[in-house]
This record gives sequence, C-alpha cells and structure tokens, in this order.
Amino acid sequence: MAKCTSCKNRDAIFMRPYSGEKLCGRCFTKSIERKVQATISKYDMLKRDDTLAVAISGGKDSTSLLHILMKIEKDFPETTLCAVTVDEGIKGYRDEALRFAIKNCQKLGVEHKVISFKEMFGYRLDELVDMIRRKGERDLTPCAYCGVLRRRVLNSVARKVRANKLVTAHNLDDETQTILLNIMHGDVTRIARAKPVLSVAHPELIQRIKPFCEVPEREIALYAYLKKIEFQENPCPYAHTALRNDVRNMLNRIEQNHAGTKFTILRSMERIRPALEAMNEEEKLRSCKLCGEPTMGEVCRPCQMLQRLYIS
Ligand code: SF4
Ligand code: ZN
Ligand code: ZN
Repeated sequence: MAKCTSCKNRDAIFMRPYSGEKLCGRCFTKSIERKVQATISKYDMLKRDDTLAVAISGGKDSTSLLHILMKIEKDFPETTLCAVTVDEGIKGYRDEALRFAIKNCQKLGVEHKVISFKEMFGYRLDELVDMIRRKGERDLTPCAYCGVLRRRVLNSVARKVRANKLVTAHNLDDETQTILLNIMHGDVTRIARAKPVLSVAHPELIQRIKPFCEVPEREIALYAYLKKIEFQENPCPYAHTALRNDVRNMLNRIEQNHAGTKFTILRSMERIRPALEAMNEEEKLRSCKLCGEPTMGEVCRPCQMLQRLYIS
C-alpha cells in the first residue's frame, strides 16, 4: 500500500485522480474541510454575524456539510445557524431521509425546522405527480415541480427564521450538471445566475451560498463514510425521470476516462460568466401578483406551475 503523500506516514486509502494525491483517511477528511474553508473565503461567503439557514435533506451532501459548518462555526462565534428540511411528501423516501436529518441535528445540537409541501401548497409531491400524470403534462417531470417548489419553500423558511443566508449543499457534480442542463434548455440567464454566491435581486430573496461547489460528490460520500455520518442512501423514486440523471451518467463516464473534466467545466463557466452577465440586462425582480414572492415576470414560476394543475 502506498504512503499518504501529505503526512508521508499513514497508508493511503484514496487516490485523487485529478491531482494524483494519495491520501490517508485523516489527511483526506482534513482536505475536504480545508477545501470548504477555502471556498468560503475565495467567494467571501460568510461574515462574522451571519444568520444561516442550512438546507438539510438527510442525504450525504447536506448532512456532511452541516457537520463541517458546525466545525467552521467555531471560528465565527457570532454566527447563528439553523437547519431547514423540506418534506416534499415522497412516500418511502423523504420520510426516511427526514429521520436522518432530525437525528443529525439532535446530535449536533442544531435548531431544526421542518416544513412540508402539504403545509405550503396543500399537496404532497406524490399527489402533484398523480395530477401531472392525469393531465398528461409530458414536458414537466416530478423533479421540475419538486425543484421549483422546494426553492420557494427554502426561501420562505429562511426568511421566517430571519436568516440572511441560505446554505445549500450543491456539490461540483450538481454544479456541472446544472451548467450543461441550462445549455440544453437554452437558458442563458440561468447560466449567468447560477453562481456559488447568488446575487440578491429582491429584498424578499435570501442570498444562497454553496460551500461544497468545488467538492466532487464521490469525495463527499467518502468523507461521510470516514466520519461515520449517518445519512439516507436510497435514491428518490422519481430521480430516473429527470434529464439530470442522464447528464450525471454522461459526466461520470467522461470524468472516469478524463479526470478533471468537471473542474474544467466549472472553471470555463467562471470565465464565460462575466460576458453572459454583461449580455443580460441586470435582473429586475418584482413581486408575483398572485403570491407576492420575487419573480422575473408577473406571475412566479411556482404559481404558474401550480395553476397548470388548476391549483394555486
Ligand atoms: Fe425531488 Fe427529483 Fe430530487 Fe426526487 S430526485 S427529491 S423528485 S428533485
Ligand atoms: Zn496522511
Ligand atoms: Zn406567485
């Protein structure tokens, strides 16, 4: 077994294909924590007196991020932190994930708020999916509804707990998938907008930050395993319906043969983004005429989507 290239003492358990580093368990977990800290300072994500709402699903990414943030928080003693879980209402999946979210928050002594689609919109996602299928909405998948409505719920809850920042656990894989998906959907505005620190374009919109945006998903999985973090592992029953799933498989195949491709995509987008931002007029958000939440048009996307199912 090769020795760790960092401490040169313990046996390596992991080889980072894109850098060639061979790391022991301890140096590996430290490298992830250091990467998160470096990302936070690179993008100036945290201020000393921030109030953070951390979106935690009960999966490996958000649970690991919460554990790391609790360590980092010690350097930011005036920062307050609250975990937020959205229960979309996916039988046999989210209910199980919720148990892991609750358990981890209790273990870490973190205040935890849970809010469901049912409370916010009157329907569970499973019920919405039935309605989508009955109506034959072929262009909108369960994930399209789930993603848009979840973002809305997270923003509302973050506002309610008086957070000034909403922390999400989007990792390098999520970010590169989103870049390609936005290109596939021809959504130039969104490409420019999807930054590690989102610009605030409306007083009701809580700034979103993504401290895991430069950490690959498989490294987070290894971090969680080495730190013995308990999380939900089963995939969502609707995941296979999303285009994102095909993009994920494609990117993973490429990354396997050409290590570092995901980082290259992220860096390329960082270089292109200023030009895209200059092309797009500065976003002018207004208040949705139906619900009052921030929106680009007259009616926000969640209201539009719910109206398509004859509810609002
Ligand atoms: Fe929601 Fe789709 Fe994720 Fe399932 S896979 S939780 S439906 S976005
Ligand atoms: Zn080591
Ligand atoms: Zn609305």
